[in-house]
Amino acid sequence: MARYIGPVCRLCRREGMKLFLKGERCYTEKCAIEKRNFPPGQHGKTRKAKLAGYGLQLREKQKVKRIYGVLEDQFRRYFEAAERTRGITGETLLQLLERRLDNVVYRLGLATSRPQARQLVRHGHFLVNGKKVDIPSYSVKPGDVVTVLGRTQKNPTVEHAMEEVKGRGIPAWLTFDATTITGRIMSVPTREQINLPVQEQLIVELYSK
Ligand code: SF4
Repeated sequence: MARYIGPVCRLCRREGMKLFLKGERCYTEKCAIEKRNFPPGQHGKTRKAKLAGYGLQLREKQKVKRIYGVLEDQFRRYFEAAERTRGITGETLLQLLERRLDNVVYRLGLATSRPQARQLVRHGHFLVNGKKVDIPSYSVKPGDVVTVLGRTQKNPTVEHAMEEVKGRGIPAWLTFDATTITGRIMSVPTREQINLPVQEQLIVELYSK
């Protein structure tokens, strides 16, 4: 499956905010946003674009796509699915993205970033309801149980991630048992439980043109 493989800190600088794509580094002073919070490129420092209308909507969409590591076509499919679902389209869009297995692994604290979670899922380290799932976009639902494959429980990456993310908290729509390394999906996340500083309504406006 296609994915962005360029420099990721550049994406954060383009959006002017931390997208947390590099794990631990994002929480240190080495983070590019801490050091150079202006758009990348030769004129990044001097360009003072005041965004409005389409520009603002586009940036909001790019932000969400980049946070979840989803490319344009797949993102549009999520939007279309959200549109077909009853409820507030923008909120449903975020709920669909949150329910991706790679995001759930990240939220449970089994990886330090979404890109790392995605790689771990692709390598088949996780089970959903006892069955191996290696599709990062797999959509979990309330009642599902996510566990770590036996041999992976001693995987240094997972162990390190669990240690690293201690204290960052797990959203209320998930529970996690550290003894058995088991996560459970308790409900579909509400907008308040999706801790993202984005205005999803702008994405709806962009795609509704
Ligand atoms: Fe973004 Fe993390 Fe790079 Fe900071 S270190 S710019 S948050 S990817």
